[in-house]
Parts: sequence; C-alpha cells; structure tokens
Amino acid sequence: MPVLFATAPIDGAGYFRQSYQAWVYDGRRGLAAVARSLGNVILPPEIEVNAEAPIRAQIHEWRWVANCDDCRKDWSFIWLDDLRYLCVRCWNAAAGGLWRPVVVPSERRRAAIYGELAARPDILTRNWVPAGALGEDRKVRKTDESAAQLARETSEHSDDGG
Ligand SMILES: [Zn+2]
Repeated sequence: MPVLFATAPIDGAGYFRQSYQAWVYDGRRGLAAVARSLGNVILPPEIEVNAEAPIRAQIHEWRWVANCDDCRKDWSFIWLDDLRYLCVRCWNAAAGGLWRPVVVPSERRRAAIYGELAARPDILTRNWVPAGALGEDRKVRKTDESAAQLARETSEHSDDGG
C-alpha cells in the first residue's frame, strides 16, 4: 500500500524513516545540515523546550506538519512520538531559540479526524487545521472547522478554492 494512502497521515517518522532525534542530528538532510547552511548556528540543548511557546500541528494533504506562525516562512513535518519543533527559517528566535512544544489532538480525536479525512478520495483535500494554527497555504483552512464540517463543505463544493 502506498504510504500516502495509509489509514493515517504520514508524519516525519514515516516520511524520513528515522526518529526525530536522528533527523535533528542528520548532517545530510536534517536540522544539523540546516544549521551548517545557516553558518553553524547552534541547535538548542535537548532539554531546552519553551513551554510558553507551543505550536499547533495540522494535517496538510495527509501529512502531519507545523507551519511556523512566527516567521510564516516554513512548514515542517512533525513527529507524533517526539513533539518538538524548530523552524529552519527563523530558528525559533521568538521563542528564545528553544524548541517549541508541538500540540496535537488526543489519540482518540486524531482517530476521528483520520476517519473523516480518509473518506476523501482526493488527498489534496485531506486537510485539518486547529484554531490558532497558521493556515499559510491557500489549501490549508484557517478556521477551526471540524473534520465533519470540512467533509460537508467538500461534498458541497466541487472545487477546492480555499
Ligand atoms: Zn519560523
């Protein structure tokens, strides 16, 4: 079964096939590579999470991502089993350069969202955005619509104008 059409959205672990920790220090394609390209900026220490600067995860085209709501220039996969975020553009400057905790719905709520989104045959419409998350892409909704509401709208409108 192709990964994109799995029963749940793909997250960083599924896409990169490595843990977030491994991806952070991956000098070829991970944050360590970005740090080098930015002029050897420093990665935050493991324990340095800024609890006051959470970022809300969203589902974009059947992928678990977070859009940076500080610089609004980057989105990244998130790892459901390691909920930390570091923006590759602004390096979480507004959060003191520390990791931002990623907020995701409960497992039960996620299962309900997955079920409703999976009913859409067009993967580009499998989007879910919680209140407070940045819907940067036109295809990402900015309002706090439930998956059921989105499903109704999708069935009412043939196009996806955003
Ligand atoms: Zn940013």
